[in-house]
Amino acid sequence: MKFEELELSENLLKSLNEMGFENPTPIQEKTIPILLAGTKDYVGLAQTGTGKTAAFSLPLLELIDSDQKHPQGLILSPTRELCMQIHQEIERFSKHLKKVKAVAVYGGTDIVKQIKQIERGVQIVVATPGRLLDLARRRALDLSRIDYVVLDEADEMLNMGFKDDLDDILSYATNVESTWLFSATMPKEVRRIASEYMNNPEEVTIGQKNAANVNIEHNFYVTDNRNRMLVIQRVIDYYPNIYGIVFCRTRRETKEVAESLMQNGYNADALHGDLSQAQRDYVMKKFKTKNLNILVATDVAARGIDVDDISHVINYNLPDELEVYTHRSGRTARAGKKGKSIVLLSPRETRKVRALEKITNQSWTEMKIPGPEAICEKQLIHYAQEIKETESNSVVDPFIPAFLEQLKDLSKEEIITRVAVQNFNRLLDYYKDAKDLSVGNSERKSRKDRNDRGEGIRNSGGERFFVSIGKKDDISVKDIIEMVVQGSDVQAKDIGRIDLQNNFSFFEVEPDGVSKMRAVIGKGLEFDGAPVKLEVASGGGEKKGDRGRRDKGKRNASSRFSNSNSSRDGGRRNSRSDSGRRRERRRRR
Ligand code: AMP
Repeated sequence: MKFEELELSENLLKSLNEMGFENPTPIQEKTIPILLAGTKDYVGLAQTGTGKTAAFSLPLLELIDSDQKHPQGLILSPTRELCMQIHQEIERFSKHLKKVKAVAVYGGTDIVKQIKQIERGVQIVVATPGRLLDLARRRALDLSRIDYVVLDEADEMLNMGFKDDLDDILSYATNVESTWLFSATMPKEVRRIASEYMNNPEEVTIGQKNAANVNIEHNFYVTDNRNRMLVIQRVIDYYPNIYGIVFCRTRRETKEVAESLMQNGYNADALHGDLSQAQRDYVMKKFKTKNLNILVATDVAARGIDVDDISHVINYNLPDELEVYTHRSGRTARAGKKGKSIVLLSPRETRKVRALEKITNQSWTEMKIPGPEAICEKQLIHYAQEIKETESNSVVDPFIPAFLEQLKDLSKEEIITRVAVQNFNRLLDYYKDAKDLSVGNSERKSRKDRNDRGEGIRNSGGERFFVSIGKKDDISVKDIIEMVVQGSDVQAKDIGRIDLQNNFSFFEVEPDGVSKMRAVIGKGLEFDGAPVKLEVASGGGEKKGDRGRRDKGKRNASSRFSNSNSSRDGGRRNSRSDSGRRRERRRRR
C-alpha cells in the first residue's frame, strides 16, 4: 500500500515524500483510516518503533481546524524525550501546513515561556501529564475545548505514576470528539482508562498481543556476580561495531558501570536521574549523534529514547520487574532493523529464563562468554573490513612512494602483521593472560546444592525455616503455606521454596517476611489442631537428632573456611577452587 491511498491531503503527502516515507507501516495502514473519521475512540496495541507517531499525528493534522488558534489536539506522553520527539515529528509532517502550530510542553523547563507559546496560538499540544495539569490550572490551556486526546505509551504513563494526573486531565476534557490510546501492553489499569473514559473504542492490535519482535535476538551469558563487569567488556569487545545501551538497576550501579567502562577506554557515558537536565541533554546528544557508542542508563532515564539503529541492548542486571525487560529490549530492532538483547545472569538467575521466554514470546539462547581468541579474531576481521572500506586520501597519496620505500624490505604479510600488532597491542596484551570467565556446569550444580541448603535465600536477606511436620504427616506444599499464613503475619507471596522431607520440612521466607516469621518462633505453628515446632533452619537438610553433631562439624568447617579464605584472597578467589572447598567440607562432615 502507498500513502496516497490513505486519503491524506496533498501537503501531508508532500512532507511524507520528503521524509522518505513511501509505504505506511502496518499500524499506520490500519489506524489512519479509523482516526481520520474523527469520531471514533480507538485503542492501538503496538510496541514502540512501529510508526505509531505518524499513525496518530497524520489524522490529527487532518482533523484540526488550522484557522482556529486554540489547542484542539492534545498528545500526552510519559517522558520529556518522547514529548520532544513527537513534537519534532509533527513539525516535519506539517512543514507544508503553514497555519498549523504545535508546541511541546514538559516539566523541568520555564513554564512562562511555554504559556507564551500557547498564547501565540497553537492547535496541537504535546505534553507530559504533570506539566499539562499545571498549565490547565494556570488557565493557560482550556481542557474543555480540546477535541482530540491521544494517550501515547499509556502503560508507561501509568507505570510512572501518572494515574491521578491522567484521571484529572481526562475528566476535565469534557468535550472530546475522540480519544486515541496507544499502549505496548494492556494491563488492568490501561483497560480501566479505556472503559472509563472511552466510548466503545475500536481496538487494533499490531501483530499478536505480546507478539515477539522476531528481529530481536535474546542472548544470555551466565556469570558470577563479581565478573559482571569483565563479561560486559568482553561482550562489547566481541562486537566491534556496537552502538548500544547498557541497562542498570540503580543510579549507583549506572555510575559505577559507566565509570569502569570509561576507565577501561570505552567510549561510554552514564544517563541517570542524578544528572541535571543539561547534563542529560548533553549525554543524549552525544549518543544520538554517535559520538558515544555505549550509553549506560537506568530504566527511568532511558525511557523515551528513540534511536533507531541501536544494535545491542545489554542488561547488566535484570530489572526488578521482569515485564520491564520488554521495554529495554524494544530499544533495539526498531523500524524493521535487527538487534540483540544481551542479558547477564548469575547461575541462580537462570531460573528466570523460562519466565522471560514467556514474556518475550521467544526462546532465549545461552551464549559462551567470548574468550580472548574469539575477541581478538573478531576485532582483527573487523579491522580488515575497515581497511577494505577506507578510501584513498589525496592528502596522503603524495607521501606513499616514500612510505613504501621505507618498507620495501618487508613482505606484504609482514607489513600487515605488524600493522595489526601495532593497532591491537593493547587489546592483545590485555587478553594475553585473560582467564576463562564461564561458569562451569559442575559449579552451577554446587551452587544449586548451596541453594538447597538455604544459603541462596540467606544471601538475599531472606531466611530458611524448619517445621516439625513432613510427608509422613500427609501434608502438601499448600498445607505448609496455609499453616504459615494462618499462624503468622507472613503473606503467601513471601514464602519461597518449600522442601518436604519425610519427618520434617523446610520453607524459605523472602526478606519482607523474615521478622514476621521470627516473631512466632517461640509460639510455634499449628497443623490440624496439633502444635508444630518452628525454628530457623541452621544449614543443611539434616535430621533433628543430628543437630548437635552437625553444629560441631559446622564450627570446624567454618573455621577451615575462614582460614583458607582470609581477606588476603577473599574477593579474588577463583570460583572453581571455592566450589571445590565446599565439596571438600561436605565430604568431611
Ligand atoms: P515511531 O514508532 O513512531 O517512533 O516510529 C519509528 C521510526 O520509524 C521513526 O524513526 C519514524 O520516523 C520511522 N517511520 C515511521 N513510519 C514510517 C514509514 N511509513 N516509513 C518509513 N519510516 C517510518
